[in-house]
Amino acid sequence: MVFVVASGFVKEWNCEQSSLAVVAAVARERRIGFCCRSDRPALASSRVAFVSGSSAVRVAISSRKCCQLVWRGGRRIRLAQRTLFCLAQTVSDSLEQMRKTSSSSVMENGSIGMLSGKVLVPEKLDDDGVALLERAGLQVACRYDLSEEQLCAALGEYDALIVRSGTKVTRDLLERASPARLRVIGRAGVGVDNIDLAAASERGIVVVNAPTGNCVAAAEHTVAMLMALARNIAAADASMKNDQWNRNKFMGVSLVDKTLGVCGFGRIGREVARRCRGLGMRVVAYDPYCAAEVTKSVGAELCRSLDELLHASDFITVHMPLTESTKNMIDRNTLSKCKDGVRILNVARGGIIDEDALLEALESGKVAGAALDVFVQEPPNKFPTSASGRLAKHSKVVATPHLGASTVEAQLDVAIEVAEAVVTALRGDFAPTTVNAPSLPPEMLATLKPVADLAQDLGKLAAALAERIQHVNITYAFRDAEKRNATRFLRASILRGLLEHSSALPINYVNADVVAERRGISWTEVIPSTIGSGDAEFLRLEVGGHTCEGRVTSGMPRVTRIDDFDIDICLNGRVLAYEQVDRPGMIGLVGTILGNAGVNISFMTLGRDDKGGRALVLLGVDSEPDSATLDAIAERIGFRPRMMVF
Ligand code: NAD
Repeated sequence: MVFVVASGFVKEWNCEQSSLAVVAAVARERRIGFCCRSDRPALASSRVAFVSGSSAVRVAISSRKCCQLVWRGGRRIRLAQRTLFCLAQTVSDSLEQMRKTSSSSVMENGSIGMLSGKVLVPEKLDDDGVALLERAGLQVACRYDLSEEQLCAALGEYDALIVRSGTKVTRDLLERASPARLRVIGRAGVGVDNIDLAAASERGIVVVNAPTGNCVAAAEHTVAMLMALARNIAAADASMKNDQWNRNKFMGVSLVDKTLGVCGFGRIGREVARRCRGLGMRVVAYDPYCAAEVTKSVGAELCRSLDELLHASDFITVHMPLTESTKNMIDRNTLSKCKDGVRILNVARGGIIDEDALLEALESGKVAGAALDVFVQEPPNKFPTSASGRLAKHSKVVATPHLGASTVEAQLDVAIEVAEAVVTALRGDFAPTTVNAPSLPPEMLATLKPVADLAQDLGKLAAALAERIQHVNITYAFRDAEKRNATRFLRASILRGLLEHSSALPINYVNADVVAERRGISWTEVIPSTIGSGDAEFLRLEVGGHTCEGRVTSGMPRVTRIDDFDIDICLNGRVLAYEQVDRPGMIGLVGTILGNAGVNISFMTLGRDDKGGRALVLLGVDSEPDSATLDAIAERIGFRPRMMVF
């Protein structure tokens, strides 16, 4: 069974205790697969899905195999009464079932699996995002008035920092603050150009963003700017406010049958294209990383080159990140290739358009008008003589103060999205929106998550068994192993298991390779070339003369082999591992010593090479035996048990 939490909490229906943290704890305790984003494949394989947000509800409903839904009513969701009624019923049923089937201690105190730690929020974050963090057990400090120096001084006390675009998290800030506790930086929004990713990665700080929460808002703002630009809305409104009634001055142009060129066909570019197709526009797109099927699916045509788009377009809108390759992408040269009287929009990032070149083209009439939400210098009124300042005041420019993401709904969605990602990362899990780590599509993440859990378990096991860790041989006999970034993701889990107990630095997907390399640990990786559909998948580690192997069975990680011993166990809690001679009475001997020391045994598994030969025993224990107890066992059986915590 897989729980899918699309976002947020299940907070209606008086079921506060069913918050994400508790659901996560229940899932973890019962070794149930658990993932934090909605995606069709994950939902299709889920028995219970916790969803929130209108798109998640839509996906969940259309995923027919998902037999139960637990739904959080979002403020903006408009669903038919009947659908709502059915959802409410399934919510109650599911919660009731969860209460019955979950261990009562978890559901009653609601605190198992809760996080402890502090989050600094120096820029306004929607209350729902703050509440989500608090319900996960975190202390949140919203300190919106910090100067850079105060931020630097405060940073060391926090485990996570959540910023919007106004706070610059530079290398200098991280070096001066030297924040030993800081493990996660959350960016409430998509662009991470205000965060030094390399400096964060070197410190093992995970950077997560919220890339989807404000896409629709940015696309809607682009359409609003497009309309305003075509029909001179802003200037006409200003003239009215100035007691004028001038109908001739503000003659507009129509959008229908005009060609819109969309540069950068990612999340926002596509949303803009969809909407503008609805306005009767022809849409052409340029994006070297986008497939023709994607543009076709929203009714747009893919251009083979930027020049092709420039020649074809009456309006051009840019929707890419600001990078070395996109900086000044629209410059004098490119503008000269545009149609005369072209209109240009930028609701992405200041700097994608060369502002001096745009000013010249507006003056010459080559460009009939521009709509700008973003500027090289922000706020432009602080730099009145700069090109940004002059553009913002230009009569042919519709300007807004970086409002793309500024809707109530987007702020809420972004706050929830970033808060969830921060909670996930603080738990040590891989947040799908991690920016400075291998990116994996959500459906692949859902598939790999149990394998990653297995990888970490095997790493811990190998660390407990091996005297020295210098080299690791890894065999990934998984069908997805060859896919993009899968081995890097799994290797990070293995290294985390191997090194975490001996590292002061938290080890995560961001810094695992670097930490291992710094310790002189090398690895070789093998992906067997043929894994047929009937072949069993497995993961194998060979470290310091020991071999640990495991499989994922029914979504659960199981260790199936240690050295020459075949076993089959799902490791959980505290586990003692030791070897003994396979003869009657040995288990009782150890049990008696542990019993006398007040240590309760929760489970036991044994593998042996031959009858009367050597045996490997794994004993689950409820508390950690002291050193004298382990010595006593060693004296009786000739092997000192090793303690592992899973
Ligand atoms: P995205 O990552 O989904 O899409 C960006 C697209 O740009 C990708 O498809 C990529 O392939 C393409 N691209 C990259 N380099 C390119 C190049 N050289 N030429 C052509 N295409 C290129 O990002 P998104 O979520 O759609 O966001 C787009 C932009 O909008 C970002 O810069 C983001 O910061 C900005 N944004 C602004 C606001 C605002 O308030 N104004 C709000 C949200 C997002």
